Parts: sequence; structure tokens; C-alpha cells
Amino acid sequence: MIYVHVPFCKRFCTYCDFYSEIAREGCFQPYADELCAEIRRRAREIDDDPKTLYFGGGTPSVLPLSVLSRILIALDEAGHGGPYREFTMEVNPEDIVERGRSYADSLLSLGVNRISMGIQSFDDGLLKWMNRRHDAAGAWEAYRIVREAGFRNVSIDLIFGISHLTDEIWEATVDEAIALGPEHISCYQLTVEGESALAEMVGDGRYTEAGDEQCRRQYDRLCQKLSAAGYRHYEISNFAKPGFEAVHNGGYWARRPYVGIGPGAHSFNGSSRTWNSKDLRGWTSASETLSAEDALVETLMLALRTDKGIDAGFLHGNCSKEDIGNLVRNGALVRVGDRYRIPEDHFFVSDEIIRELI
Ligand code: SF4
Repeated sequence: MIYVHVPFCKRFCTYCDFYSEIAREGCFQPYADELCAEIRRRAREIDDDPKTLYFGGGTPSVLPLSVLSRILIALDEAGHGGPYREFTMEVNPEDIVERGRSYADSLLSLGVNRISMGIQSFDDGLLKWMNRRHDAAGAWEAYRIVREAGFRNVSIDLIFGISHLTDEIWEATVDEAIALGPEHISCYQLTVEGESALAEMVGDGRYTEAGDEQCRRQYDRLCQKLSAAGYRHYEISNFAKPGFEAVHNGGYWARRPYVGIGPGAHSFNGSSRTWNSKDLRGWTSASETLSAEDALVETLMLALRTDKGIDAGFLHGNCSKEDIGNLVRNGALVRVGDRYRIPEDHFFVSDEIIRELI
């Protein structure tokens, strides 16, 4: 599993604090030089089970095609070229509309087989507040372009739990997402991240966070509507038509090893985590071996966020019988065969449930 971090955006969204720089003339070649060198240096760390490639960011769709090709050639020369079981590219709708059908065709011919489109909302007022570059019409147009190019696996992102997102707008947003018909939908509750513009807005009183009740209501409606439309709620924030569950992200949740290339990217080798520094030039890496306790917490947190849950033997071997029993009695955990899982109607409070187990 390979993750490539593309740390460029054309502008920054209100809520975001991912590592990214404003894309400027001449920024891509030096980035690609270092990235390709990192691929060569770390080729032996890459585990191809499952064989997935994920371009995230930042905004990978701002990368010139020549730069994308260079990176793919470097991966090929390092013994980890395509075809990939899943090759996801995060895209911004506005880039797809601006670069048009020929760009989408090129992505397909370069081996991209899954598009993850950051739509976030179908409400133009909210999109403006988020400082997104596209509007609702742009999202529809971008979606049409990738479909016409032949992409058969498209995921879209949505955000709920914004204090001025009314239930009516949210319901209309989910309905529109269903009408669009992507194979996969990721929905995230808005959180105030440390270095985002939103954190400043909270600090000086320009934004007040949505209450738990509103977030819960919007999450519940989302689950109901997507379930009725045939989506499987297979992870707290992720819904898929059968057979379209994300393979790469599934690997993260199962704690499979992956290598993250590029500034700000993370890696995991089964026992330690590595972080690349957030430097556009000369990024370095630091790693930390996980303690047994950290590994246990991670395993619980990741597995219990999915509908597969966790192996019953593992849970009994590591958590108190009494805590497990209490959670089962309260309906917060259910046993299905040889596994325990959090039922969907408790997904919203999964962090609290996991805290009780830890
Ligand atoms: S949400 Fe995506 S496009 Fe917006 S600033 Fe963050 S990385 Fe860039």
C-alpha cells in the first residue's frame, strides 16, 4: 500500500489543516525530484498486499500530468508499478471542470481506477463559507465528466455538523448525493482543527460549533437515507455500494503496513509509525515504535470503527470481561459469530464506547 502526499492547493478551505502549500509556478518539478528520490530510497519498505496506490493531499488534481507520469514511472522502476488493485486519486471538482474530459481520459489511461471527489456540499452558500473553489453546478459537471470518461468507481466526500447547516439543507444534500449515484460516499462531521481558519473563527467568536444533538440528528438521517438507497455503512464515516468498499483505507483500518511518500506523509510497518516532516524542500522523517498499549488502543479504535468489528478472542484477551459484558447489556456492543462490533445505532458514540474498553 502506497500513499503519495501532494502538498499543493490553489487555496485553503476554512476547515482544513492538512499540510499543503499554495500551488505556484515552478513548484512541481523540485517536489517531483525529491519524491522520486524518496521512492527509490524506500522501495524495499513497500508491501504490495493489497496492491493499492492513493494520491491524497492537498489537491492531487493540481499536479501536471507530466509530473504524475514521472511519479508513476519512478514507482514502476522501483518494482511497484501498476496495474494496481485500487489506484485512487483525490480530485477537486473545479480542476476536473477546468481541465476537462481529456484530463479525465489521461487519468484513466495512467491507471487511476478510483476517483475521490471532494464535493462536501451541494449548497452554494455553504461551499462559499467553506472557501471551496467549486459550486454545486461544478460538482455535477465534474461528476458527469469523470463518468463519461469511463470511471466506474467514484467516491464523494460530504460534511455535516456545521452550525448553520440546517436539517433541510442537509437532507437535500444527501438526496442530491444519492441522485448523483456514486459507488462510495464518505461523510465527516465538521471538526475544528488546530491550525485551520475555522479555529481562528472559533477563537474570535465568528463561529460557534454545532451542538451534539444537531450532529447526531444529521448523522442519523444520513444513515437512514443511505441505507434505504442501498449503501452499506461499513465504517463510521464511510458508505459503499456492495463491492465498492475502499481497499486502501480498509488496509489502514486493518493495520496493514503502508508507505507514505512526500512531505507530511505517514507510514506504518506493523510495529512503528513514521512521519515525514512538513517541509516542501528536504523533508526528513522521524519514527516511533509503538508500545504494546499504543498498539492495543490503535487496534481497538480502528477495528471497532468498522462493521467487521474485532475478533472476540482478541477483545477478551485484552479488555475486562466486566466492561465487555456491560457494553453488550447496554446494546453498545454486539457479538456476531466470533467477532464483536458496535451496532450502527451506536456508531455516533463509538469513541466513548472504545474509551470504556480501554
Ligand atoms: S480540504 Fe483539500 S482542497 Fe481544501 S485546503 Fe484542505 S487539502 Fe486543500
